[in-house]
Amino acid sequence: MKEIEIDEQSGFCFGVVTAIKKAEEELSKSGTLYCLGDIVHNNREVERLRSMGLITINHEEFARLHDAKVLLRAHGEPPETYDIARRNNIEIIDATCPVVLRLQKKIKQEYTQPDAAEKQIVIYGKSGHAEVNGLVGQTEGNALVVEKFDELQKLDYNKDIRLYSQTTMSLDEFQQVVHHIANHIGADAGFEYHDTICRQVANRIPGIRQFAASHDLIFLVSGKKSSNGKILFNECREVNPNSHLIESAREINPELLKNATSIGICGATSTPTWLMEEISEAIKSYI
Ligand code: SF4
Repeated sequence: MKEIEIDEQSGFCFGVVTAIKKAEEELSKSGTLYCLGDIVHNNREVERLRSMGLITINHEEFARLHDAKVLLRAHGEPPETYDIARRNNIEIIDATCPVVLRLQKKIKQEYTQPDAAEKQIVIYGKSGHAEVNGLVGQTEGNALVVEKFDELQKLDYNKDIRLYSQTTMSLDEFQQVVHHIANHIGADAGFEYHDTICRQVANRIPGIRQFAASHDLIFLVSGKKSSNGKILFNECREVNPNSHLIESAREINPELLKNATSIGICGATSTPTWLMEEISEAIKSYI
């Protein structure tokens, strides 16, 4: 008899829950709503909302849009997006997560200080990621984005450094970045860092490791574009090499199920519970 368990801690974080609720509320009233970028890094959930009337547009399409209602997702947007909305008579339904909003404000405050030109504002995050674009936008594009450890060499260690992090980065890696800068900063330069990592991801790590270690086989269900999905998957793989990242039931390899007696299903902060349940049903149909 095989045991299948869905991780209770997995599933949407409150930022994603709020964004989806706002989209559903609006769709129930008007039947159509634009969303700037995928509402969540999960194709199946995007498809579900598309069938309810949600139309995903990119930034070029947004700039051409007039007299419409547009939802901004939890990742947040740079000030330019709000400027375009004002010019084009676009009503914004702002679902920027409060955690991201606080971080945007902090960075803007730093950037608007009188001595801002003497400092380097550094964001540890994924270059080109929507949230990071929104953060860099608070500095008129002047913040430096550092994605990998070896990119730290591009910083000027004789100039003050103020370090922030994208909310979904790994806490361990952020701490390594902090140590590296602290060890290299010049005698006449100052270094301050702000741990702005969202605990919705970081706090899940011990639990997901325990969950992954307690099963023979793990399926972590996540969109391939999800940053926190990758982090959580790596954590699972470290404690259980028989961990597999899948986006849908179609990706389940039935061969894997043969020798497993206990199968765990978990997900990222962008993984809907209904999708993990669907995976569980698909596994049951194979065994
Ligand atoms: S992971 Fe954290 S910051 Fe990102 S949307 Fe969820 S609650 Fe907000």
